[in-house]
Amino acid sequence: MVVAVLLALLMWPAANQPAVIAWMVILVGTSLARLVLFLAYRLKAPAGLQLLDWERPYFVTLMASTLTWGLGSVWIMPKDSFLHQAITLVILVGMAGGALSVYSAIRWLAIATIAVVLLPATAWVILFEGRPGLYLGFAVLLFCLSALRATKVLSQAMEQNLEMTYELRQAKEDAERMASTDLLTGLSSRRAFLEQAAAPMHFCRRSSLPVCAVVVDLDHFKQINDTRGHVAGDTAIQHAGRLIRSGLRRSDLCCRWGGEEFVILLPDTALKEAAGVAEKLRAAIAAFPVPLWDADIPITASFGVAEGVEDLERLIDRADAALYRAKREGRDRVVCAGPVAA
Ligand code: GH3
Ligand code: MG
Ligand code: MG
Repeated sequence: MVVAVLLALLMWPAANQPAVIAWMVILVGTSLARLVLFLAYRLKAPAGLQLLDWERPYFVTLMASTLTWGLGSVWIMPKDSFLHQAITLVILVGMAGGALSVYSAIRWLAIATIAVVLLPATAWVILFEGRPGLYLGFAVLLFCLSALRATKVLSQAMEQNLEMTYELRQAKEDAERMASTDLLTGLSSRRAFLEQAAAPMHFCRRSSLPVCAVVVDLDHFKQINDTRGHVAGDTAIQHAGRLIRSGLRRSDLCCRWGGEEFVILLPDTALKEAAGVAEKLRAAIAAFPVPLWDADIPITASFGVAEGVEDLERLIDRADAALYRAKREGRDRVVCAGPVAA
């Protein structure tokens, strides 16, 4: 609008003044239409595929204002003053330069805008202004050619930028998922477990509810790896992970702590109850051998259980100490840690 007012002021002494006023009125109308469109867009804040619905109204209002510039400039240009025509063309080239940077994300839109703004006035000077008009028109066409190339470079750069941003976001999501999920079992990773456990620990501490940790370690697991190979070992870990997860409540947390060890957090569960859960899991692991391609191999696991709302890592340490007692006492059993020393 500012450029339009400047152009109108420059043309005013030599132009058909009612035409200039009419042009300004039409331009205010098309500019208002675009403004309303932008405000509605901001208000609705469309996302994803909804964005596509806005392309057509955007194109229609843009073309309305572009045509007002392209055809209107020929209309208000004083036909008997080459100086005024040249000034008009200089201003139009400036407008086209602006369009180049703004619309190049969609290349054809930038080209259409530049063509509609510049070609009518350029054609006029070439056709009706003799040799000077020819030179000026040729200069504008040269600008159009370089603008054509610039739209290509800019739109390619923008597309690459968008693609890279998208790929980076995907890679970040993948990395976060991989960091929070154990790939072999699909259970939470140790890191994710520690993060997830903070809230229920805090809740139990505040509400004076009991909370227990259970540490599980498969027995003589090295033997499976040594006699049946690593793939069989992996299958056994997956199998145990499935049995453990399916034997717990949704509100219980569990993770693959590392190797063939799992850690479980049982919020709002006292030691006796937790020992019962561990016993149920122990029995399930002992009862369901690992199905391998040629035979089922029996496995067992040892369990250490500890209760306490203290720091999570200390709770796990105490459950781990109980687990090692279970190992020493013969494996395939559940051992509970004593109460916390005062
Ligand atoms: P214990 O009854 O005392 O626990 O005996 P164990 O043989 O299970 O001893 P330990 O827990 O020390 O051994 C764990 C073995 O698990 C050692 C390692 O080679 C194996 N292991 C660790 N992670 C993986 C894995 O992702 N896949 C496979 N196949 N084996 C693993
Ligand atoms: Mg182990
Ligand atoms: Mg083991």
